[in-house]
Amino acid sequence: MNFLLVDDSPVIRKMVKIALKQVFKGQIFEASDGLEALNLMTLHPIDLIVCDVNMPNMDGMDLLAKLKETEDFSQIPVIMLSTEQGKEDIQEALTLGASDYLKKPLRPEQLIKAIYEVLKSH
Ligand SMILES: [Mg+2]
Repeated sequence: MNFLLVDDSPVIRKMVKIALKQVFKGQIFEASDGLEALNLMTLHPIDLIVCDVNMPNMDGMDLLAKLKETEDFSQIPVIMLSTEQGKEDIQEALTLGASDYLKKPLRPEQLIKAIYEVLKSH
């Protein structure tokens, strides 16, 4: 199972990576913004994406929208992460097709649980 972590914070990426590695096999790719993520996705098959909202260049909402309108990527589940607590952000992400939306600060076991839920329903 290949993951793509998209977050401009190396600290968050590292934390998520450590958590995923304890539970899942496969490769974990990292990108620091939406553009880098799209580029990586043309090179590697990805099964699930964990994506921050606030990032430079291309943010998480723009990346999510782009993925959902791209045939090759539209079926890949995306779990959004954000410090934004606003209801509109959550609603926007879910409307755009996010599989789940988790708030930072994030507990690793919360993310693992969300991933299992998403995989079950996918
Ligand atoms: Mg960020």
